[in-house]
Amino acid sequence: MSRMLLGCHLSISGGLDQAIARAEELKINALQIFSHNARSWKMTPLKPDDAQKFIERRQRSKVEYAVIHTIYLINLASPDPKNFQLSVQALNDEIERAGALKIPHVNTHIGAHLGQGIEQGLERVVEALERVLASPQAKSAPDVKILLENCSGEGSELGARFEELGFVLQNINKNKNNRRVGVCLDTCHAFAAGYDLTTPQGLEKTLTELERTVGLERVALIHLNDSKFPLGSRRDRHEHIGQGPIGSEGFRLIVNHLALRDKPFILETPKDDEQSDPMNLARVWALRYDN
Ligand code: MN
Ligand code: MN
Ligand code: ZN
Repeated sequence: MSRMLLGCHLSISGGLDQAIARAEELKINALQIFSHNARSWKMTPLKPDDAQKFIERRQRSKVEYAVIHTIYLINLASPDPKNFQLSVQALNDEIERAGALKIPHVNTHIGAHLGQGIEQGLERVVEALERVLASPQAKSAPDVKILLENCSGEGSELGARFEELGFVLQNINKNKNNRRVGVCLDTCHAFAAGYDLTTPQGLEKTLTELERTVGLERVALIHLNDSKFPLGSRRDRHEHIGQGPIGSEGFRLIVNHLALRDKPFILETPKDDEQSDPMNLARVWALRYDN
């Protein structure tokens, strides 16, 4: 039996390789990063030296799993042509970076329909992803997968319902199951979107729905977050593990479930102070039966 893959979203301040240093300090074997300032479209090109430093530092560490989270500005459903183009370009650039950093996954929110309606919005997302997959950047990094994250459904956000993610997966390149696209399950977002995870029956029902719409084997990453708001609130506010309505018993079920236990788990819990990450990690480790 192998140790669970568990880590946190970590800062790259001081350089990409500093995220690995932080992971070592926390004794974690998985991490997530923004590859650059997450609130800006501007992406300064990755220097080959910085990529090399990151790769070498990682090889010397125990970090087995890494993922890039895209910037929050991306809206693959945008009805505005300029914003749509910027979103496609930003995702292309993240894939190119992931390739250069030997990071296997780029995780993204799919976006918001902004009044077009869900169906129209999802069609835009399909078109965006087809463009991305046909881009020179995606072709230059054939091992990098795109993960579509479920969301809480605030405003006109798409991807709160698993069938919306399923629709996108099934329609990319005309129903040809595209193996370069998978899914990330965020526990806070799922719960806020109305999927119960807190009882064995609730979790079973949620996972059956995920299997039916997306396929559990396509879920490549779990974001492990408690929620500040109740089931179905459609609010995206993360809470420390066990301190929200998902609760310790919910997370005990999630991290030990046979369908989920071998997938990488990444915490995106609040960072109130430097004790926050060690505290949340310790809570999850304590819930795992084989740790
Ligand atoms: Mn996210
Ligand atoms: Mn998330
Ligand atoms: Zn969130």
